[in-house]
Amino acid sequence: MNVYLIEDEPLTLVDAGPNSGTSLDELERGVAALGYALEDVDLVIVTHQHIDHLGLVGLVAAKSGAEVAAIDVAVPFMENFSAEAQADDDFAREIMLRHGIPENVVIALTSVSRAFRAWGARVDVTQPLQDGQELRLRDRTLCVYHRPGHSPTDTVFHDVERRILIAADHLLGHISSNPLITRPRDGSTERPQALVLYLESLRATRQMDVDLVLTGHGDPVTDHRRLIDERFNLHQRRATKIERLTVERPRTAYEIAQALWGNIAVTQAYLTLSEVLGHVDLLLNEGRLVERRRNGVSVFEAA
Ligand SMILES: [Zn+2]
Repeated sequence: MNVYLIEDEPLTLVDAGPNSGTSLDELERGVAALGYALEDVDLVIVTHQHIDHLGLVGLVAAKSGAEVAAIDVAVPFMENFSAEAQADDDFAREIMLRHGIPENVVIALTSVSRAFRAWGARVDVTQPLQDGQELRLRDRTLCVYHRPGHSPTDTVFHDVERRILIAADHLLGHISSNPLITRPRDGSTERPQALVLYLESLRATRQMDVDLVLTGHGDPVTDHRRLIDERFNLHQRRATKIERLTVERPRTAYEIAQALWGNIAVTQAYLTLSEVLGHVDLLLNEGRLVERRRNGVSVFEAA
């Protein structure tokens, strides 16, 4: 994953990597190569709640005394990481069972997720940010925008003057960002429409005038409008394919995922389920599908 160091006043780190010794070593060496030590960092900006971005933030803040800035909706998650991550897993478990993923796969995935949790860690947010606010450094101003979809807390930072957008996982060049079904922040037990939300966020980003998008993984993006249009087309094609599968016969989301991608590796089951449910939501909203419950499992039929 990518982290960024903004050489300004305050010296600002964007994301910090997962909480592991190897990552800390890598981060220290990267920062040293630019002539600084981790102790010099004054501010850490967090782009979203995922552990590969968040894990080391607390450690960096402890070492350097840096302030930590993140969008306000991310604060409860970041400050109560363990309990929040557990609640996310419980929510994901219900979603998986409701959508036909076999129980043994659900159990395996739950333990994988618990093992991964060690890559995250709690951190106090000293500067909660609001959607639309400006974050002023000495030599630049970053406009802060909440762009949920990939996660409920995705935040992008727009340097209007330099035409740069720090977008992290909101827009990736080499793969389409997974709009992961994540427990909603409002306590609702219904699944959030992550893909629908994500496409809305992409439409807002498409309108921005930027030359360079700095991503959370892989290379920067220089033609964001063309890339976003490609993503829209991909999702359109996939929705049509899924509709066709439900015309053949009613299927659960898990059966749709299997028909699309064959027998998926256990670790990919939740990603592919999220992907299918995202498209199902688009089709449900357009009245092209209906959802019925059979013995607690949702089955999707062409309308
Ligand atoms: Zn992410």
